[in-house]
Amino acid sequence: RRRRRLDFLIARLTGMTRKQAKQCIRAGRVRVEGMDDSQLKGQARVGIEDAVYLDDELLERESGDRYIMLNKPAGVVSATRDDYDPTVLGLMDPEERRGLHPVGRLDKDTTGLLLLTTDGEWSHRITSPRHACPKVYRVDVAEPLDDETLERLETGIVLRGDNKASYAQHIERISETRILMTLNQGRYHQIKRMIGAVGNRVTGLHRERVGGLVLDDALSEGDYRSLTLDEINSVM
Ligand code: URA
Repeated sequence: RRRRRLDFLIARLTGMTRKQAKQCIRAGRVRVEGMDDSQLKGQARVGIEDAVYLDDELLERESGDRYIMLNKPAGVVSATRDDYDPTVLGLMDPEERRGLHPVGRLDKDTTGLLLLTTDGEWSHRITSPRHACPKVYRVDVAEPLDDETLERLETGIVLRGDNKASYAQHIERISETRILMTLNQGRYHQIKRMIGAVGNRVTGLHRERVGGLVLDDALSEGDYRSLTLDEINSVM
């Protein structure tokens, strides 16, 4: 029978970080059927079908698929394995990363919201061009952007080697050199290539949102947590 660390299990079932889960256990808010309270520590192992109670409420038992949001730091690649660079999966506990794949890709130097899951259908819905799931990026650029340029980016630009226009679904200006850009296309290096095509250069790229899912600001770079059921269903 598969057994899991209690802190992992609680984090997964509630969407808490593991640190928060440990605090709940330490505070005596957790009960597991068939176990003494004295056995309840973060490292304690419980069967995944054991009844776990938080504040006397039964947590749903673990179903097959897993869904994670991770705050990607720069310098890691969005792949399950790589010969040269550290991967996002390498940031995770070996016990937790089994079977997960990144949902789409962020460039190595891009930071922010990256989703990981074992559910291929769910990740397909998010990445497939047909579904056009919107993603919001905070983009920093080297040179000030004027309004005409922002209009061009929204109208669309045919990038070298492409036959269709790349466009931003929406742009919000934050400052002269910072914008929020919503894409529903997701082409290779799309933002860097679009900004390059208007004679500018991306100096920082950070993803804030995927569909209805916003990066949790309690997660520092490299941290991750499970999605809640509502979040899983809210993506699109
Ligand atoms: N566009 C890019 O150029 N890079 C990313 O990582 C995401 C969007």
